[in-house]
Amino acid sequence: MAFNKNIQNKDAKFFRFGKFDSVFNGGQTRRKFLKYMMLTGIGVTGTTVTLSLWHKPGFTQVSRQGDWQWCRKCQALSFVGNDSLGACPAGGVHNHRGSGEYVLILDSPNVRGQDNWRWCNKCQVLAFAGNQTLGICAAGGVHNHQGSGNYVLKLNEPNYPGQKEWRWCIKCQELNFAGNDSLGSCPAGGVHNNISSGAYTLEIL
Ligand SMILES: [Zn+2]
Ligand SMILES: [Zn+2]
Ligand SMILES: [Zn+2]
Repeated sequence: MAFNKNIQNKDAKFFRFGKFDSVFNGGQTRRKFLKYMMLTGIGVTGTTVTLSLWHKPGFTQVSRQGDWQWCRKCQALSFVGNDSLGACPAGGVHNHRGSGEYVLILDSPNVRGQDNWRWCNKCQVLAFAGNQTLGICAAGGVHNHQGSGNYVLKLNEPNYPGQKEWRWCIKCQELNFAGNDSLGSCPAGGVHNNISSGAYTLEIL
């Protein structure tokens, strides 16, 4: 079974992604974090203030993972770090041409947001696992979240920096981009239904 690999071997990439609070990767110890802050000349106190703008007050550990991309056929967000791109409900496998590089927060219990978003090890998409139904999977049956981390999405935070047109589909539970003219194919049939969704913001490199 495939797992979605952790980003901890890509710290350098994430340190460059220091627009707001992403300088602290969860794979780092606090000592390494402090050392990094000193090396870069950023005051720890000042950074803590920045952190508290977006997260609960105090020292907040934030783990992030890259290798997430948008599929131009089904509009879903899916993980591209495995050998398989995953079955697409629009036919074949997901097609990420034209996608940005998305970064998700995972396994960071102190980060404000909606957690229990999970990676499906069959179709590679990100789907919400907090409802009774796991949602129909394009690879057959329902999504399977075994091996996934616990992802946290920013929900209804209009000032959080990132791309804001992401929505939850009530039929398949998948996160999908709703900023295009057409909604994407839904594995539960027809196109995604985002009527009951809040507004999700994704960080993009
Ligand atoms: Zn797709
Ligand atoms: Zn699936
Ligand atoms: Zn759907």
